[in-house]
Amino acid sequence: MLAELIRKSKHAIVFTGAGMSTESGLPDFRSANSGLWGQENPSEVASTEALNKNVEQFFRFYRHRVLGVQDCMPHAGHFILAEWERKGLIQGIITQNVDGFHTEAGTINSMELHGTIQRVHCQTCGKVFGSNRYTEEQFYCPCGGTLRPSVVLFGEMLPEDTFSKAIEETEKCELFIVLGSSLTVSPANQFPLLAKEQGAKLVIVNREPTIMDGYADLVIHEKNIGEVLSETNQKLRNGL
Ligand SMILES: [Zn+2]
Repeated sequence: MLAELIRKSKHAIVFTGAGMSTESGLPDFRSANSGLWGQENPSEVASTEALNKNVEQFFRFYRHRVLGVQDCMPHAGHFILAEWERKGLIQGIITQNVDGFHTEAGTINSMELHGTIQRVHCQTCGKVFGSNRYTEEQFYCPCGGTLRPSVVLFGEMLPEDTFSKAIEETEKCELFIVLGSSLTVSPANQFPLLAKEQGAKLVIVNREPTIMDGYADLVIHEKNIGEVLSETNQKLRNGL
């Protein structure tokens, strides 16, 4: 059924959340018991407040995060989505993930709502560096400013240009596919509803039920994202 919906729609947008990344082996950053950073609460150590008041802890936390992402890589599902974009089957991906895996897998129109951990930039002069600066424990810019990951920290707004582009794409779409998001983080959870209001079909693939399941045209809980995308890709290739 997913293959058929994809084939029929002229503008399809995919929305990915933590579930997409956990299939690459990355822990879910926002879940309380991820074991990612001992007993620390991410909303405290990954915040603008920590950056300003507890910068050493902030550096340690994000260095750990960068190393974690470097240990993982995009999985088959990321590559299938990139292939679908090349073939014109989907028009873009809105993601809540900061690992940069959609871009790494070859997706061009990847709208990273929360930024990317693949880069850091200077708080003072804005100069951009690769996140290997963090792994090499170089936390300061030659200008003396603090380097910070180019991600949205707790306490910050989402990047306005990316957000409005994501809204625009959602308003245009005929098919909106959610992959691995519980749709609880605002304002990201507005996208499926917006798509639905514009008359799009809504598909949700997530291990747990979501608050939007009732609005969806197709809901899949019992399979991994990678499995669903591989099976669908097979059907699309066979022209079914
Ligand atoms: Zn600088």
